[in-house]
Amino acid sequence: MPEIETLADDGQLRNYANGQWTEITGSNGQDIVNPATGETLGHVPFSDEADVDRVVGQALEAFQDWQSTPVEERIQPLFELKQLLEEHESDLAELVVQEHGKTLAEARGEVRRGIENVEVACGIPSMMQAGNLSHAAPEIDESAVRQPLGVFTAITPFNFPAMIPLWFLPYAVATGNSFILKPSEQDPLTARLIFQLIDEAGFPDGVVNMVHGGPEAVNALLDHDDIAGASFVGSTPIAKHVYERGAKNGKRVQAQGGAKNHVIVTESADLDFAAEKVLSASCACAGERCLALDNVVIEDSIYDDFVDRTVELADEMTVSQGLEDDVDMGALITPEHERNVRNHIQTGIEEGATLFRDGRDITVDGYEDGNFLGPTVFGDVTADMVIAREEIFGPVVNLMRAENFDEAVETVNESRFGNAASLFTNNGHKANRFKKEAEAGNLGVNVGTVAPMAFFHFGGQKDSFFGDLHAQGEDMIQFYTDKTIYIERWPDQ
Ligand code: NAD
Repeated sequence: MPEIETLADDGQLRNYANGQWTEITGSNGQDIVNPATGETLGHVPFSDEADVDRVVGQALEAFQDWQSTPVEERIQPLFELKQLLEEHESDLAELVVQEHGKTLAEARGEVRRGIENVEVACGIPSMMQAGNLSHAAPEIDESAVRQPLGVFTAITPFNFPAMIPLWFLPYAVATGNSFILKPSEQDPLTARLIFQLIDEAGFPDGVVNMVHGGPEAVNALLDHDDIAGASFVGSTPIAKHVYERGAKNGKRVQAQGGAKNHVIVTESADLDFAAEKVLSASCACAGERCLALDNVVIEDSIYDDFVDRTVELADEMTVSQGLEDDVDMGALITPEHERNVRNHIQTGIEEGATLFRDGRDITVDGYEDGNFLGPTVFGDVTADMVIAREEIFGPVVNLMRAENFDEAVETVNESRFGNAASLFTNNGHKANRFKKEAEAGNLGVNVGTVAPMAFFHFGGQKDSFFGDLHAQGEDMIQFYTDKTIYIERWPDQ
């Protein structure tokens, strides 16, 4: 495991505030456990209201100078951070594997995606410009400027501990705000390592901060008068809570929630290609992804063929500790979550779905204490079943029949979630219809994982998102700034 230099001797994590590692005075906390081995990696104490208040005060003070620091100066620590993240890409990826349980290839991918957001934020001098027009009215010139707003926070989930904090942090500080990260308490060591690099990158003290904790810390941030806005990524019930509580307190809020994504496979699709992409999109990160394609809606004429291909590919997948060679799927985050996924599989059986492949019968040699499940494939799933409606967040693929394309699109749109949907087809007309008719924030055609690059926004619709401006790219700049108009007349004296 890469060395976490400033972790206290007793394995307790600390907050990072005002450029210092500071002890957490809150009384609760939890162990950080490697999901594949059961080994305890450290302990994260939970910040209480007083811990949060101290950090917000320091962040607000840092904002006073940072907001008027020339933009060219503001982006220099971001260039430095990109360099440091790249130098430590392998350390970060290995740490993600150890505390999250995903495979090394998946962890490398997420670190890369995080770094891309730092790269995009380095373009803030151009992206932050708002617009101007001379002769907007007789003798009048008008221009608009974007200004930062103060202290922002982001509350992030366990499933992408390196990438998701970086959907927010670089844009918040590049636009001239100060920032407080509240990472997931389940795998906070990755954020810990990123902040070690932030400490070296040259940001002024107090501009970038981190508080560890659970619900108490989140609510203290949402209630604090000096927090201008909050970004949230996590499950739908908590996203709703964060959106409502933050908005009630007059803050800007963007809250990304859970998902239940669909993919349609039409009879014209390249079935080998589709089966491979669909299975990997369902089971990557052991299904713990908001972009997992859980519900596969297949045109009737190719249903049996697609079932065979999917089960065959699922049989070939290897499951083990993510740092081992040639591993396709790693561990689930906790034993409780593994139990939850097992319960969903039992529910599917009781609801009458056909269990084509049971991932529950699994032992992983050398890792008997790990939270493992194999890929599980259900067939004859219908849209009214619990397993088709609820987010399972595990490696469970639901194969569903549709008589035709219209019925398949209806099934997609019946879902209360709208994070992502994908279509596999060789028919351009159906692809066009899908783009116009399917209700989700991220739509793919012949694409398994519908993840936009950092220079595009990322966010869902319906119960997958609460707010208006999404993560990443241009939306982040709007979220982190307000616009002022200057209207000027300079008559001849
Ligand atoms: P979670 O909702 O349990 O936790 C997310 C964050 O909320 C954590 O930082 C946690 O400390 C905090 N939190 C938890 N309970 C809280 C409470 N009662 N009050 C205040 N704060 C609370 O989510 P998770 O299990 O860490 O992550 C998985 C979920 O995240 C899935 O539903 C997944 O779909 C979703 N997710 C969504 C996206 C997206 O872009 N839409 C991306 C990644 C993950």
